[in-house]
Amino acid sequence: MQTREHTLHFRSPGSAGRQPAAFPEPPKVWPRDAPSNFHVLAKPTGAVCNLDCKYCFFLSKESLYPGSRFRMRDEVMEAYVKQLIESQESSHVTIAWQGGEPTLMGLDFFRRAMALVEKYTRSGKTFEHTIQTNGTLLNDAWCEFLRENNFLVGLSMDGPRELHDAYRVDKHNRPTFDKVMRATRLMKRHGVEFNILCTVHAGNVMRPLRVYRFFREELKARFIQFIPIVERVTPELRDAANEGWGDRKHARPFYSQQGDIVTERSVRPEQWGRFLNTIFDEWVKRDVGRVYLQIFESALASWVGLQPSMCIFAETCGDAVALEHNGDLYSCDHYVEPEYRLGNITEKHMVELMSSTQQRSFGAAKRDTLPRYCRECEVRFACHGECPRNRFATTPDGEPGLNYLCAGYKRFFKHIDRPMRIMTNLLRQQRSPAEVMRMLKREQRVGK
Ligand code: SF4
Ligand code: SF4
Repeated sequence: MQTREHTLHFRSPGSAGRQPAAFPEPPKVWPRDAPSNFHVLAKPTGAVCNLDCKYCFFLSKESLYPGSRFRMRDEVMEAYVKQLIESQESSHVTIAWQGGEPTLMGLDFFRRAMALVEKYTRSGKTFEHTIQTNGTLLNDAWCEFLRENNFLVGLSMDGPRELHDAYRVDKHNRPTFDKVMRATRLMKRHGVEFNILCTVHAGNVMRPLRVYRFFREELKARFIQFIPIVERVTPELRDAANEGWGDRKHARPFYSQQGDIVTERSVRPEQWGRFLNTIFDEWVKRDVGRVYLQIFESALASWVGLQPSMCIFAETCGDAVALEHNGDLYSCDHYVEPEYRLGNITEKHMVELMSSTQQRSFGAAKRDTLPRYCRECEVRFACHGECPRNRFATTPDGEPGLNYLCAGYKRFFKHIDRPMRIMTNLLRQQRSPAEVMRMLKREQRVGK
């Protein structure tokens, strides 16, 4: 078990008179397998959150650190910022915070983080600051800070009131929609840039247009991500898991990548495919170039022959890791489990952990463990078996390792093929993919 809190004590930024921090230095010989760029999601409160969203299995990860206060110490924050900047070859560095709920750390924590970026910045480096939040703790002071420092905020929201409140509740089981709407108004007033991160589950999957139009028309959102909820469980865990993963009177289950059934909140594969197709049909008729939907843009990259922006659709992965509050680095945010712990950044430099055999094998396994059914699939170039965390189904010929969402993805990638080909051709001619809307309309008129 490799989940202890580290006990080294380093100097906080600005604390005079003590010894300088003894952080691991970057290796003298740069590791051969070091990725030139990678992404770290730092979780300063670990899995701790002020809400109790029923599908959020991350809440159960609290039990990995018994007795912890779940507050990232400044020494760990300094190691994160310093090592991330030292490790990236590109001139662009993204400093990302998520949770749990990162705003629980308070504003001063993030002010200190900005001071550290300033301290370790090098000439020619540009920074992007991102934070994923449920929005409920945002106020004027937060928004001023986020605006001043050009943060891109990812706001978790599942649609209009009745769909959002289906599962996104607080610790007293109270709805949260009004608080999140308040956050959107505050951010707009202060000019904070935000994206919508919408999880798709049994509560909203049957209402794709209601969800999409709410974001587009009522929130005027221009950047939207959809994430399917797939809570994988064993038969023994199902009843407890159906009650949620947060604080409960009964002993709550720990979420791990085990089992081949799903909770009642999870999307069904065909529903997921229909959800995407319905929104795509609306988007491709009127919103291309106006509303950015991450999954459609990522798919277009695959059709064009570029690297998709979403790791789940890339051939291999392993370049997006999760940093726990105590400095433990894990292979992926979805694999915060003891066997996927790479080490602790206060003991070993991040770039060494990233280039370790363990992490490189983790990333290559996405490609190397694909079942034959996927290897021979006509939409493999766009899907690549999606994320390994969802590969707990069986192919029609009985091979394990098929993605649970396969039927939905097959349906989706086949459905969008023609418009994607048109957009690809437009891009190759250096024209705007938005022209697809006019072309499809003309075709429809001629067809009539
Ligand atoms: S395991 Fe899934 S989410 Fe994690 S990096 Fe790989 S593809 Fe991405
Ligand atoms: S659509 Fe299904 S068979 Fe094809 S690559 Fe994706 S998961 Fe595999």
